[in-house]
Amino acid sequence: MKQFPNSVQTIVLATRNPGKVAELAAMLGELPIQLISVVDVHDAPHVEEDADTLRGNAEKKARALFEHTGIPSLADDTGLEVDALAGAPGTHSARYAGSECNDAANRAKLLTALEGREDRSARFRTSLAFADIAGTHFFDGVCEGVITNEERGRAGFGYDAIFQPNDADGRTFAEMDKVEKNLISHRGRALAQFVRFLEERLPITKAFDP
Ligand code: IMP
Repeated sequence: MKQFPNSVQTIVLATRNPGKVAELAAMLGELPIQLISVVDVHDAPHVEEDADTLRGNAEKKARALFEHTGIPSLADDTGLEVDALAGAPGTHSARYAGSECNDAANRAKLLTALEGREDRSARFRTSLAFADIAGTHFFDGVCEGVITNEERGRAGFGYDAIFQPNDADGRTFAEMDKVEKNLISHRGRALAQFVRFLEERLPITKAFDP
């Protein structure tokens, strides 16, 4: 039986990062979804990411954008939890080395904090929040791994060069291409759940039985 979508749904992403938009667009495949981002939204609200959970921050961003635009909105928040640091930097991952810091400073601070430590276990967590008229839905993804002793690889961003996922031939995320990383990454796993949710929920017209 063939199925035809009877409408295209627009979703607005609470990000200014074109890489995140492209990542989701690639995973949506043939689904009748048009993606836009806050870059396309006039006067987009500024949201303080001050919740103490990833879900809390993602929900704040998604709901604020939905209230402002009236368009179903998706936001994400990611944190790196290091066991030897009692879960830090966690929700503070983006500003671990200070509010004006960059990715390189965050990585350097983490390597210094773990100098001489045997337990290097860590995990990335991503929470996605999807806000629309019906409420908020959450999708979580986790990727377990270890923090390396030094930087390895040039791909990716953030903590990629010092995070080695388990079961990945000993390579860091920064030594993988995007497709490979997305198959096992925290955000890839959360996005895969979101895509399944959309597939089940999109208005579909069963046009005819051939
Ligand atoms: P955000 O929630 O995407 O803003 O990410 C929070 C912090 O985690 C930032 O410092 C990012 O650079 C870092 N981060 C998020 N996702 C990843 C990833 O997939 N690899 C490495 N670092 C990441």
